[in-house]
Amino acid sequence: MHIVVCVKQVPDWDIPPASFKVDEAAKKVVPPPGVAPVPSQFDAIAVEAAMRIKDAAADTKVTVMSLGAASARDVIKHGLAMGGDEGVLLVDDAFNELDSTGTAKVLSAAIKKLGDVDLVLTGRQAVDWDLGVTGTLIAEMLDAPVITFARSVSVTDGKVRVERVLPDAFETIEASLPAVVTVSNELGEPRYPKLQQIMAAARKQVNQWGAQDVGLDAAALAPRLTLEQLYVPVTETKVEIMEGDTPEEQAANLARRLKEAKLI
Ligand SMILES: Cc1cc2nc3c(=O)[nH]c(=O)nc-3n(C[C@H](O)[C@H](O)[C@H](O)COP(=O)(O)OP(=O)(O)OC[C@H]3O[C@@H](n4cnc5c(N)ncnc54)[C@H](O)[C@@H]3O)c2cc1C
Repeated sequence: MHIVVCVKQVPDWDIPPASFKVDEAAKKVVPPPGVAPVPSQFDAIAVEAAMRIKDAAADTKVTVMSLGAASARDVIKHGLAMGGDEGVLLVDDAFNELDSTGTAKVLSAAIKKLGDVDLVLTGRQAVDWDLGVTGTLIAEMLDAPVITFARSVSVTDGKVRVERVLPDAFETIEASLPAVVTVSNELGEPRYPKLQQIMAAARKQVNQWGAQDVGLDAAALAPRLTLEQLYVPVTETKVEIMEGDTPEEQAANLARRLKEAKLI
């Protein structure tokens, strides 16, 4: 059994949103200086899902894969410290400005190159851009079934069994392997690696592949989406004091104003 977990490196989602700046000219989010990027929240939970399968079946191999800058090696190492076996880091200038289709093309090409993958786990969404489409696109490109929003994932008799989260219920779905599953926070907290595991992860192998290694070039990855504008919306707050000689009069004036504003 071979599981690939896709982990994206994102700006630390634990710091206050107000500390991020937006460079409108460059159309980029600028995280505060000196704050190290981290694995996307749901992706660490996807690694946890893989580790629970491995806990139940020790012959399971878990590959942690990330596409991004050279620093994305750190989020791979974190997955390896959680118990992953090896990593794949996808770095290339041709990968710098990918849209979701391009991201999924690179990840699915790398998964195909690995060759013997039974199950691909992704987060339900990346916590920076929140598009929530990459897992489903990978499934489409691998011609594999996809099950989204998993709160539990298990594998038996060549099938993956997933409890998925609905707005007001849970449902259980099975799919044949190979399959793709996107993992939600309801699965539970990711395990915290111990110092010994962190040291062991430093010795685990991380293969680094570029566009050529996965058989893609800049033309194949040309974005089909254009980012037109990136900005922080301006929110205005107006204060209006309700006049009136008595509380009843003030309340009546407030009700009139709310009606005028069509709020009641
Ligand atoms: C026109 C345009 C320009 C953009 N420019 C930039 C830019 O300059 N810089 C930038 O950082 N982003 C940019 N983005 C966002 C980038 O395209 C998205 O990061 C990418 O499409 C994936 O979407 P998402 O991050 O919301 O992931 P989702 O679709 O929400 O991710 C779902 C899951 O897929 C997996 N996944 C997603 N991305 C990766 C990854 N890189 N490695 C491993 N697993 C992954 C994870 O498991 C994740 O939980 C741009 C988007 C558009 C549309």
